[in-house]
Amino acid sequence: MYDAIVVGARCAGSPVAMLLARRGYRVLLVDKVTQPSDTVSTHYVQQYGLRKLDEWGLLGRLAATGVPAIRRMTISYRDAVIDGFADPLDGIDLTYAPRRTVLDPILLEGARTAGVEVREGFTVRELVVDDGRVVGVRGGYGAEEPAEYRAKIVIGADGSQSFVARSVGAEIYRSIPAASFVYYSYWTGLRTHFHSRIGVDQQVGVWPTSDEQTLVAIMKPIARWAEFRTDPEASFLQVVKDVVPEFAEQLVDAGERVARLTGIRYPDNFYRRSHGPGWALVGDAGYHKDPITGQGISDAFVHAELLADRVAEGLAGERDLDEAVADYERARDAATASAFQFAATIGELTLPPQLDAVFTAMSGNDEYAKDFFNVIAGALPGEQFFAPENVARMVGGVRA
Ligand SMILES: Cc1cc2nc3c(=O)[nH]c(=O)nc-3n(C[C@H](O)[C@H](O)[C@H](O)COP(=O)(O)OP(=O)(O)OC[C@H]3O[C@@H](n4cnc5c(N)ncnc54)[C@H](O)[C@@H]3O)c2cc1C
Repeated sequence: MYDAIVVGARCAGSPVAMLLARRGYRVLLVDKVTQPSDTVSTHYVQQYGLRKLDEWGLLGRLAATGVPAIRRMTISYRDAVIDGFADPLDGIDLTYAPRRTVLDPILLEGARTAGVEVREGFTVRELVVDDGRVVGVRGGYGAEEPAEYRAKIVIGADGSQSFVARSVGAEIYRSIPAASFVYYSYWTGLRTHFHSRIGVDQQVGVWPTSDEQTLVAIMKPIARWAEFRTDPEASFLQVVKDVVPEFAEQLVDAGERVARLTGIRYPDNFYRRSHGPGWALVGDAGYHKDPITGQGISDAFVHAELLADRVAEGLAGERDLDEAVADYERARDAATASAFQFAATIGELTLPPQLDAVFTAMSGNDEYAKDFFNVIAGALPGEQFFAPENVARMVGGVRA
């Protein structure tokens, strides 16, 4: 009998397992894949995400992989350009965008070192339910006889299409339809820094990543998906040419693509019920938003810790386990409401007039731009930056 079984061993699952094991609990962590394994995701980690890695003693291991430091960001919306970086956040004065084949094994190793029992290549196919309460999982390796493991709580950290969520019937209680799709790949030979530019109904994001490679990603509205896919290679290059023509020249002349193009239509933005008798959801399984703000990984870290703290209270008998986990959901939702809305809005790739005006205000004012970078970094609450009086102050300055 385990204290906890965690399904999914990436940004949410490995940390929650690690943090529980560090408190002395017996934890089983399973994933159907074996690390290192890539996944469909780009990989910009915000300062508030790196702060968690630092607190957990894992940031040094990430830095030691040679992933390049990012200390400058250029973000633009049509003609409004902001350039700079956030203030240091508890000493974190940079960001990284490691490949998931680099980051996820470090997280898993952190869990293993903490004493978590890890089963890779293990697919959960069924939840074990006793008198309405989830008490374990059944699954296995390929066609092998299924194994059954039991625990006081089963945590689904198994991504936006969560099997655990489907099995318990966890409902989505807030959702905003996805607006866009993405295509991305990796190049060598490019000299550039982090930039993200939304042009007219399309976006290009570029940043340095592991192995001296550069990620180039494009986003477009979902309505253009079928048309784009008639010739993804040509369509991709056309978006780069339209949005950042000077970079497109470098891409063609100096860049060598070293991976295939990967494309995906985003799932809808949602909050999903994340607690119930004997179960919890964390990471994208419970809360998913448009990746345009690059917060999914960092949020998974923060929410893994929030959940581990609550589960530990329950396992220690300080309070009822299910009530403690319900608290986790409330705290998560309260802390993310404004970021959720912001990601869905920006994901439309055409900003509403007021947000357009905020971008224009920031492009002419270093203080506003710095505040915005601090929001992205996790140092300034979005609620404060987007508070009506602050928006009026910024936009009023533009009008004046
Ligand atoms: C195109 C794209 C770009 C993105 N870019 C960024 C970015 O730049 N920055 C950022 O912060 N976020 C980004 N995100 C979001 C980020 O990828 C997610 O928020 C993050 O991966 C969530 O982590 P997770 O651990 O919750 O789930 P996942 O990373 O999805 O991991 C879930 C794991 O569960 C396992 N699993 C599933 N079902 C089972 C089962 N039945 N049995 C066993 N194992 C199972 C899977 O194998 C997988 O390993 C992006 C997402 C996409 C799609």
